[in-house]
Amino acid sequence: MATQRTFSIIKPDATRRNLTGAINAKIEEAGLRIVGQKRIHMTKAQAEAFYAVHAERPFYNDLVSFMISGPVVVQVLEGENAVAAYRQVMGATNPADADEGTIRKAFAESIEANSVHGSDSDENAAIEINHFFTEDEIVG
Ligand code: ADP
Ligand code: MG
Repeated sequence: MATQRTFSIIKPDATRRNLTGAINAKIEEAGLRIVGQKRIHMTKAQAEAFYAVHAERPFYNDLVSFMISGPVVVQVLEGENAVAAYRQVMGATNPADADEGTIRKAFAESIEANSVHGSDSDENAAIEINHFFTEDEIVG
């Protein structure tokens, strides 16, 4: 598998608890390179658009409120098979189901406040990266 990029968000529950560095350590230990990174406070419109795929789910409004409840760190990660590799180090959506050693097992507070987002496909990774980064903000 060739070098690939994926999109990551360190969510407000993690920035609030000062876990950016600890999460970045797990990302780097997994062999992924952080090639773009910035701390932002998402607008409601940005969060709604980002999670539009979940608009019909019962947790959508709460999820949008959570994502704008504090700063987030948006990231571009690069490496072998980056989309799948990051999903693996993130762990399951529900931390109760997450494997030992994963970010969500170590840090997530709940199924909603689960510390990180990672793209679920190569196609969505490209869309999500373009949403938050210009090409000159990504330095490999
Ligand atoms: P993932 O982030 O693992 O790809 P999903 O794409 O299914 O998971 O969901 C997006 C985000 O929505 C999750 O990371 C989590 O913050 C939230 N979420 C998912 N399922 C629930 C749920 N049942 N209740 C509350 N929040 C949820
Ligand atoms: Mg998802």
